[in-house]
Amino acid sequence: MNIGSRISTGIDFDRDGKQVGYLNLPHSSDISAHGNICIPIAVIRNGDGPTALFEGGNHGDEYEGQVGLLKLIRSLQPDQIRGRVIILPSANFPAVEAGTRNSPIDGGNLNRSFPGDPNGGPTDMIAHYVDALIGEADIFVDLHSGGRTLRFLPYVMTRLTPRTPQAANMAALHAFGAPVAVVAGPEREERYAWSSAERRGIPCLTGEFGGSGQLSIEGLRIVERGVHNVLVHMGILRANAIPAPPTRVLASRGRTFSPDNGMFEPHFDVGDTVEAGALGGLVHFFDDPLREPRPVHIVHSGTIISMHHSGLTRRGDALFWVAGAA
Ligand SMILES: [Zn+2]
Repeated sequence: MNIGSRISTGIDFDRDGKQVGYLNLPHSSDISAHGNICIPIAVIRNGDGPTALFEGGNHGDEYEGQVGLLKLIRSLQPDQIRGRVIILPSANFPAVEAGTRNSPIDGGNLNRSFPGDPNGGPTDMIAHYVDALIGEADIFVDLHSGGRTLRFLPYVMTRLTPRTPQAANMAALHAFGAPVAVVAGPEREERYAWSSAERRGIPCLTGEFGGSGQLSIEGLRIVERGVHNVLVHMGILRANAIPAPPTRVLASRGRTFSPDNGMFEPHFDVGDTVEAGALGGLVHFFDDPLREPRPVHIVHSGTIISMHHSGLTRRGDALFWVAGAA
């Protein structure tokens, strides 16, 4: 595989067996003039067959995908599969190391950096490399959560657009076996990792499995089952799918943004059902005690799938994200 990157690796993507190593991204810094950022990667291959690419740590402070994939790296053996599994458990490694969404080195948000740039900063270089790996895959699974600033109802997600393989995306979505799934349409933002899959017409799942800077036990269980079931679904893992309850499929309706700066008192929680116009909460003005709090009215009817996590809010924060029956 010729990726055209300064990132090097001792991994041979076409070799049978289980290889666990690093992508070495040269980074000349004040503390390491000739150093590398070493990004963990695993390639498990057994003969010809489909390739599944799994990514965690696209954002550093999102943990269910990272831990689920670390467990997969240790447990999955070549004789259990046919084809190839490529696992990047902590894709934006500097952000993972720092426990932050974006890279502390260049401020880069990996999930707003695709298709990347081999001559850019570390985050752009990682995006460029992952974009090339996506091009080798028959399915790409990018595991997220809400990080430190959002919390989510755990769900798997896919996107149906004229450029996506819609039937394959929906089949993989149901195979994943999450209790809730969200189906999204086209977006103006095309710098996501999944945008790379969309441009290449490659089946893609993503998902949000927790948030608030923590590791959700339920989210991790959903991730582990989903990764297993996708591998079975793709004909890669020789095993039975783990039984799951029927998936409730929702479509994104839209977000409600904070109208002011202050302290947010929510009147609902993730998973609650709301009507458009409902009083979603109050923004309190801690610097002006006699000022009446400002009401926040929820814009869309449906199920709350994500909420702002911090008690502090600033004008423009996404306080609620609502989805409804697909
Ligand atoms: Zn994320």
